Amino acid sequence: MSDSAEFIEPMPDAAPVDQPGAQPPPAPLQTPRSVSRRKRVLLAKPRGYCAGVDRAVQTVEHALDHYGAPVYVRKQIVHNLHVVRSLEARGAVFVEETDEVPEGSIVVFSAHGVAPEVHAEAASRNLKAIDATCPLVTKVHNEARRFAAEDYDIVLIGHEGHEEVIGTTGQAPASIRLVDGPDDVPNVEVRDPERVVWLSQTTLSVDETLQTVDALKVKFPKLQSPPSDDICYATQNRQAAVKAIAPQVELFLVVGSANSSNSVRMVEVALAAGARQAHLVENATAIQPKWLTGVTSVGLSSGASVPEILVSEVADWLAEHGYGDLEEVNHTEERLVFALPQELRRDMRLTPKA
Ligand code: SF4
Repeated sequence: MSDSAEFIEPMPDAAPVDQPGAQPPPAPLQTPRSVSRRKRVLLAKPRGYCAGVDRAVQTVEHALDHYGAPVYVRKQIVHNLHVVRSLEARGAVFVEETDEVPEGSIVVFSAHGVAPEVHAEAASRNLKAIDATCPLVTKVHNEARRFAAEDYDIVLIGHEGHEEVIGTTGQAPASIRLVDGPDDVPNVEVRDPERVVWLSQTTLSVDETLQTVDALKVKFPKLQSPPSDDICYATQNRQAAVKAIAPQVELFLVVGSANSSNSVRMVEVALAAGARQAHLVENATAIQPKWLTGVTSVGLSSGASVPEILVSEVADWLAEHGYGDLEEVNHTEERLVFALPQELRRDMRLTPKA
């Protein structure tokens, strides 16, 4: 876990699935498909914002309130266009790299995490850096550095080019080998097959990752596993909720952006679990009416970086098209909350508002 003591977990009775033994049984669906012919929407819960995204967005909002605009943000703070545009309207300036930020300015690092060299570059330009990396990504960073220090080769399961993968690889570039799914396993080479451990991106498909691990274990029988799941509680819970609903619907809509890994995985999970169609939609305007042909039941959820307003607009669109009967299907309660980055909390405590 993050060493920054930023974790608040007020979850006595409904912990996320990455807490051992804490997974409550899925709530039974209230209306089985076999007894319903009415047009309806099954709305998955949990959906939308996770604790890491909520913290990252709040970090930028509080930074704008405290320091005043502009506050620079390296990369999209979370992978959602609506969120980015909303923060831009308040004075956030999104850049790709720190060298675009004027010397001495404030820069926020996104929830996906950064390599150590990004911190070093920010320091060399006299930037005030606020790190909004999700603590569950920081946990993977810490694991990577620890296993590298113990001279392991680390097989990182993840998608090449994704910001989180770049940030994690940067923790120990000489020790990490990336594998992008089970088909990529034959290409993995390590120095010592007796000393290999796997880690993963936090937002992967749970099932596909298990397939990749199984294939890795065939190739490296001494493969070690991380101390705890790297696929985060939010990814797991959202996929499980989609899985529970998908066999009962002809169409599944996932609200999310195309560059949101966890949102894309939810579409794949819906299809694999039995939905006849599944589509990723940025917002209600992206829905194609022809998708509704012959559809009685629609599943609806959203990725971990999606504000609820976008889901409400999709639900309204569906209601206008005859699907006004909406049931929320509660799979798992989530109450996880992360504190704001400590450098921001310290400034908010010690210095008056700019
Ligand atoms: S999806 Fe998981 S790892 Fe990513 S920000 Fe949310 S809680 Fe953190």
